[in-house]
Amino acid sequence: LVLASALTGCGVVSSGGEDKSSQAKEDGDKIVVGFSMDTLKEERWQRDKDLFEAKVKELGAEVKTLAANGDDAAQLNQAEQLISEGVDVLVVVPHNAEATAAIVDKAHKEGIKVISYDRLIKNADVDYYVSFDNVRVGEMQAKEIVKQAPTGNYVYIGGADTDNNAHLFREGAMNVLKPLEEKGDIKIVYDQFSKDWKPEEALKNMENALTANKNNIQAVIAANDGTAGGAIQALAAQGLAGKIPVSGQDAELAALQRIVEGTQTMTVYKPIHAIATKAAEIAVAVAKGEKIETDQKIPNGKIDVPSVLLDPIAVTKENVLDTVIKDGFHKLEDVYQNVP
Ligand code: BGC
Repeated sequence: LVLASALTGCGVVSSGGEDKSSQAKEDGDKIVVGFSMDTLKEERWQRDKDLFEAKVKELGAEVKTLAANGDDAAQLNQAEQLISEGVDVLVVVPHNAEATAAIVDKAHKEGIKVISYDRLIKNADVDYYVSFDNVRVGEMQAKEIVKQAPTGNYVYIGGADTDNNAHLFREGAMNVLKPLEEKGDIKIVYDQFSKDWKPEEALKNMENALTANKNNIQAVIAANDGTAGGAIQALAAQGLAGKIPVSGQDAELAALQRIVEGTQTMTVYKPIHAIATKAAEIAVAVAKGEKIETDQKIPNGKIDVPSVLLDPIAVTKENVLDTVIKDGFHKLEDVYQNVP
């Protein structure tokens, strides 16, 4: 505690649970936002980092970002480091929804509020949550695939079991698929998470699904573009790429290229600018001790977390120009670079 306050130079020895935000205002120091990220692996996270950092700076504050490469212990250590360096507020993209509850407890002991970014931290007194409507993401994926394959054997290639979002995406997809299964139109023949969202895990899942069903598969719901890439690789090995609809998420460049080439059916575009901006605004306001208005509360197993959920956008070959390209998320020439 003494160390933490010495490092911030605020001269106020904080005691457990005291609200740090009031100190930040009194001492007139620049606000420092800590950003603890799971990973920078998928294309989107580098964008999240860049846009979040830029917005925090634009709001007159400083930002310290650390990424843990999918390692729970490393993420906890890094968060502790940020806390001991005296950040005024902590923004966390949890690798593990449950394990990161410890970060919230540690931060709160120092009077530092915690904002859950994109992924919800479970079973902890999280102060705010900023994300997209992730159940909707799953519904969008399933709806688009059902349009292409109204009947047949369905494969669900999920994300990381440790990520609350992976469960929400699956929940959304099942909202669409289960009634169709009950009607007898479709059959879900394979349904597995892919460890740590790894494309190679998704590839293995897809291979297993193909083998178990003797290639008799009509549709694949992959939870994001990385897992879609793995699944499509497995389909390609059986000469099935482009013959079976596959969903994705994140509007990654490689996925958009696959969409215009015809091996992936859709992706879900989540404007990263919107989440990064919103999270930065809330973080800086929270650090100033301001009260934040949110539109809804999301239960995390312990409390109902004040939340802001942004709208995702379904992208297919048909609307790629009007969405990701129009928004400047990707350049036309990059998306169509392999199309003659
Ligand atoms: C995010 C997705 C991302 C996935 C893997 C999820 O929590 O919402 O956008 O593809 O994690 O990083």
